Amino acid sequence: MSLLGPVEVRVLAEKLNLRPTKKLGQNFVIDGGTVRRIVRVAEVTPQDVAIEIGPGLGSLTLALLPEVAEVVAVEIDPVLAGQLPLTVEQRAPEVAGRLTVVHADALKVGPGDLPAEPTVLVANLPYNVSVPVVLHLLRVLPSLRRGLVMVQAEVADRLAAAPGSRVYGVPSVKAAWYADVRRAGPVGRNVFWPAPNVDSGLVSLVRREPPSTTATREEVFAAVDAAFAQRRKTLRAALASWAGTPAAAEEALVGAGVDPSARGEQLRVEDFARIAEQRPARTP
Ligand code: SAM
Repeated sequence: MSLLGPVEVRVLAEKLNLRPTKKLGQNFVIDGGTVRRIVRVAEVTPQDVAIEIGPGLGSLTLALLPEVAEVVAVEIDPVLAGQLPLTVEQRAPEVAGRLTVVHADALKVGPGDLPAEPTVLVANLPYNVSVPVVLHLLRVLPSLRRGLVMVQAEVADRLAAAPGSRVYGVPSVKAAWYADVRRAGPVGRNVFWPAPNVDSGLVSLVRREPPSTTATREEVFAAVDAAFAQRRKTLRAALASWAGTPAAAEEALVGAGVDPSARGEQLRVEDFARIAEQRPARTP
């Protein structure tokens, strides 16, 4: 089995008359060392069913297939989705039977679209939708226990940020609802074709129990969205329309044991869960 290098990627791209688009975040990995590293850091096992989002020309897919029981690859681009089984059959026939390609938008897939229940997410994600894709998959695929994704460096920082950090925000809190998230190393831009104008980073996700709360996830996320919509404001002010009035916001915050003059960036997901429990009922 041989991985795709710069020459193989160029040959495949020419064959497909491919013009990588920014809209679909099409930056393909041309470095075998990088895909091997992703698979190693993902710590996949031969029992794992991996879901790969955006397999593209198959750089990562080829490195992943020998290490897991199955790969379910979800690709939005019909030309790439059509070519991938042929590439794998040609370059790694011994593991080609482990691959299923699903031609779909990752933001719309659910368990019913997949041939098996994925246990691990391994992906070089399309950068413009990386956070929504991660949150969507963690929400709709409860079988997913772990993940290792490559994203824009700045997004890696945001996803893994802790309260108090300058970049802590909505993605950090929502990701923390589902998983323990940490940065798992930097990646330079020269491992891609075409090279993006930003650096990348690896992020590891390990599923956790969500905070114990009587509020629903949607209710908690509504409080998070409201708190960060005006992130420079105190929670008392930022949550005024969420609660109905500034006084109601103050009351909810005090009821949750949170200082009304704090800011959203200081709170953990558990704090938002307690705040959501205190939201005043809406009068019809
Ligand atoms: N995994 C390949 C690699 O490492 O070389 C390609 C990664 S490239 C950064 C992102 C891939 O995601 C592209 O193949 C693109 O067509 C695909 N893609 C973009 N948006 C998508 C979506 N919403 N659902 C599924 N695939 C998507």
